Amino acid sequence: MSIKLSKNIEKIAPSATVAMTQLARELKNEGKDVISLSAGEPDFDTPKHIKAAAIDAIHRGETKYTAVDGMDELKEAIIKKFKRENNLSFSKENISVAPGGKPIIYNAMITTLNPGDEVIIPAPYWVSYPDIVKLAGGTPVIIETNIEDNFKITGNKLKQSITKHTKWIILNSPSNPTGEVYSKDELKSLIDVLKQHPNIYILSDDIYEHLLYNKSNSNKFTTIGQIDDEINSRTITMNGVSKAYSMTGWRIGYCGGPKVIIDAMRKLQGQSTSNPSSISQWAAVEALNGDQSFLEKWLESFEERRNKVFEMLNSANGLKCLKPKGAFYIYPSCEGVIGKKTPYGKIINNDKDFAMNLLETKLVSVVHGEAFGLSPYFRISYATSMEKLEIACDRIIKFCDELI
Ligand code: GLU
Repeated sequence: MSIKLSKNIEKIAPSATVAMTQLARELKNEGKDVISLSAGEPDFDTPKHIKAAAIDAIHRGETKYTAVDGMDELKEAIIKKFKRENNLSFSKENISVAPGGKPIIYNAMITTLNPGDEVIIPAPYWVSYPDIVKLAGGTPVIIETNIEDNFKITGNKLKQSITKHTKWIILNSPSNPTGEVYSKDELKSLIDVLKQHPNIYILSDDIYEHLLYNKSNSNKFTTIGQIDDEINSRTITMNGVSKAYSMTGWRIGYCGGPKVIIDAMRKLQGQSTSNPSSISQWAAVEALNGDQSFLEKWLESFEERRNKVFEMLNSANGLKCLKPKGAFYIYPSCEGVIGKKTPYGKIINNDKDFAMNLLETKLVSVVHGEAFGLSPYFRISYATSMEKLEIACDRIIKFCDELI
């Protein structure tokens, strides 16, 4: 019998970040000494006080359904977080909690997009944005950037991509995969354009908010909604506990946004996943309300790793990197090695060949730039130990040196 899948599922590609991480996992299980730099997840353990809150919740019997889009205690913690860290004022009716950041984006898109609606996505982008838009029935419109413009769009570039079908723009700062950060002034230049188009909604993916280096005036975290009230009235400000608190497996994403969209998202979630895990929600309450002092130490450690990886990769033959300002990714250009051959005679025609040959011959897994919409680049997640990073970077340098 031949099984036929839906047209919808055929529209999308497998997530390259998930696929490369799985490939590295399988090679490791075969006993290979693989260093995986493909998964965007902090290597730190979830802090003890957060785990303790989850265990307490289990003991108290908090193991039942909760309100579909998050329990009140968590919504209150989120409202406080938005006020404290972003100076954004939300009520409970503006908050939605889902099993991860991905479902928040998916819920927002599926509840607002109709066929023909366009969603502007600056590239390089996180792999899942265009596919989520396609699954939700919309059309991704990609604005390309490059290393020369620090991988950021300007108001002018945005203006040129807007049509009468534009429904959303997705912003992500600090960025996955580049680590670049939009300053307040840069966001203002986008706002100037968006002000001319009051029907466009903004999704601001702030999941890497806490991972910001050299926090000076020029590298201070700003989310677009906090700059302008009218813009905020049509913005979904999205965040989660995964990256900041090293809670990727707990699956808690959340957002603040217009009541009409939040209501629709609740309706959808009530017919799909229902509530995120009750235990994870209690852990998230503790993450947001509890001790935050460990974040500074984690950040220091990420910064040391960033410096090391930047320095080592920039010295590799044929690679060129921008020093990331946030998140835990670096996005080197591998233009200088395209067309070269490995000692085994394989030609590096593109960034996918680069990533696959690097994995096969040097056992380092990275994600090819094509998956993020901008080639020839590749993404490294440096959220792993310094020791592993040094070995991995040495292997990458050697790989590049051996290319002919
Ligand atoms: N966001 C992370 C990454 O980019 C986790 C994997 C995923 O969901 O894409 O690697």
